[in-house]
Amino acid sequence: MKDNKNVNRRDAIKLGLGATILGAAGMSQAHEKVMKTPFPLEQVFIPIAGSDQEFPVRRIYCIGRNYAAHAREMGSDPTREPPFFFQKPTDAIQFVAPNKLVDHPYPSLTKNYHYEVELVAALNKGGKNIPVDKALDLVYGYALGLDMTRRDLQRFMGDQKKPWEIGKSFDHSAPIGPIFLVGKTGHFTQGNIELSVNGVVKQKADLSQMIWSVAEQISKLSEANELFPGDIIYSGTPENVGPVVKGDVIRCQINGLPDLSIKIV
Ligand code: MN
Repeated sequence: MKDNKNVNRRDAIKLGLGATILGAAGMSQAHEKVMKTPFPLEQVFIPIAGSDQEFPVRRIYCIGRNYAAHAREMGSDPTREPPFFFQKPTDAIQFVAPNKLVDHPYPSLTKNYHYEVELVAALNKGGKNIPVDKALDLVYGYALGLDMTRRDLQRFMGDQKKPWEIGKSFDHSAPIGPIFLVGKTGHFTQGNIELSVNGVVKQKADLSQMIWSVAEQISKLSEANELFPGDIIYSGTPENVGPVVKGDVIRCQINGLPDLSIKIV
C-alpha cells in the first residue's frame, strides 16, 4: 500500500488519487486500481435479522396515500388516483434495533413533525415492467419503518405547486428496523399495523387495507424505473397520522415483526 504522503501532488492529480488511496487500505491491489475516486463514499446498510450480512441500500421509494382513509385525511379521493411514488435519500435511513428505545432527532425547519408507520419491502432482484404475479419474486425481506414527515413544509410546498421533497426527504427521515427474510416471515399481505405515542394508540389498521399491494407497487414502480437489488419500498401509512414533539415515544408494531421504538429528542 502506497502511503498518500509519498504521492506528490502532480502524481496525485494525474492518477486521480486522493482520499481513495487511503480509503482503499486493506483492499486488494486489483480493487485499488479500479477504484479511483477523489474521496471515499460510505454505503448505507440495514442489518439483516439472524444473519451476519447487511443489506446495502440502493434507493428508497415510498408510495403516497396508499390506505383509503389516509388518502381522504390528506384531502384526496382514493378511488380515482393511480399510485404515486417519491424517494428519500439513503442518508435518511436511521437503523432502529428492535425492542430498544432509540433517540431520534427532531429535525430542523418544522413545527409539525408527523409519524407514518409503514411496512417496508426490500428487494434483492430487479427488472423493468414486472408483472404483478411475478413481482413478489423480487422481495428479499421485510422491515418495519417510519416515513417521518415535516408536514407543515410538505403542505406549504404542495400548496404552492412546488416539489414537497423538503417535507419528506431529509436526514433521519426513514427510521427502520432489521430486514427479515421472506423465507422466514412469508409475505405480508395482511395483519395488524399499529403505532402508538406515549402508550396511546394513534394508527391502527390492517395491511390488507392497502389500496395497492406490495406486488402491485413493485409492478407499477418497474414501469417508471428499472428496479435493482438494494431498492427498498415504503408501502404507505394508514390513517390518523399526527404530530410528535421532543420527549414523545413512538412505538410501531406489525404482526410478525418485532416492535420498533424511538424517542424524539
Ligand atoms: Mn408515507
